[in-house]
Amino acid sequence: MFGAKTARPAPATRPSLRMELTIKNLSKTYPNGVKALDNVSLTIPQGMFGLLGPNGAGKSSLMRTIATLQAPDSGSIHLDAIDALHDKLALRRVLGYLPQEFGVYPKVSAEELLDHMAVVKGIVNRSERRETVKALLEQTNLYEVRKRSISQFSGGMKQRFGIAQALIGQPLLIIVDEPTAGLDPGERNRFYNLLSEIGENIIVILSTHIVDDVRELCRHMAIINEGRVLYAGQPQAALHALRGRIWERTIDKAELADYQRQYPVISTKLLAGQPLLHVCGEGLAAAGFQAVEPSLEDVFFATIQGKAAPARPLHA
Ligand code: ADP
Repeated sequence: MFGAKTARPAPATRPSLRMELTIKNLSKTYPNGVKALDNVSLTIPQGMFGLLGPNGAGKSSLMRTIATLQAPDSGSIHLDAIDALHDKLALRRVLGYLPQEFGVYPKVSAEELLDHMAVVKGIVNRSERRETVKALLEQTNLYEVRKRSISQFSGGMKQRFGIAQALIGQPLLIIVDEPTAGLDPGERNRFYNLLSEIGENIIVILSTHIVDDVRELCRHMAIINEGRVLYAGQPQAALHALRGRIWERTIDKAELADYQRQYPVISTKLLAGQPLLHVCGEGLAAAGFQAVEPSLEDVFFATIQGKAAPARPLHA
């Protein structure tokens, strides 16, 4: 179901531990004419990497391409020495993937399905498999419910199961696509804790439209929109670049259209029923705005609207 039916590699064939995923000039236009990836280049180091973008930005297209599930029109992807586009099997051997759509869950228990997936991933030795499955169920806090059918799991439990299956075979690269959408705050926190435990020794790419996911977990990130990389770097650097340029002000609902016309508004939300504007610009105190410390949400909105600081070098 996920990953190739291949034997597990001998450790010697695995890349060195300080790895990098290097994506160069990746482009993809679907047959319907939508350009989902437009010359995407990114260098992704070890640790948690957040790929942040609004719906339709091209995140899933990029994740599926890295996971070797679809081919780009042009460009290259390397995980150290592995040429992912030309040696798909080598990439799949070291990949764990939690797709956005997990598909229909069969009416089998979590333990049985994980066992089956471990066979598919090449763990043919029964006792080794039993140990692996038990360890993964414990790590994802699903051991108590291992006999339950996955179709009866809550959203959070399903996502933790998704991580358990992605971790089979000790992957070096894990891709999780929109994993926290639809989770309640408690489930989301449990999922964050699990992801952050997965460790710094592998590359974890977290694709999301939820700014909090990146703020909580990622030391490096990229913001993409309309298939293009608009920012790549550390969240801290992006916040620093916006310092002194974010202002806020509460206004009356009736004034909203005027303010949107006059000022570089990047976001509008309601605070106790009144619009609270965030704008990105210089010297707005005279207009009644108050300077605020930028948040990652400000970075996100200012960047996708082209109102952030001049672009920084596009490498993470
Ligand atoms: P995201 O994951 O950021 O929401 P996607 O990669 O799913 O973005 O989609 C990027 C764009 O490509 C969207 O406009 C989407 O409608 C389009 N798209 C995605 N998959 C396909 C496909 N298989 N065929 C045609 N268009 C697609």
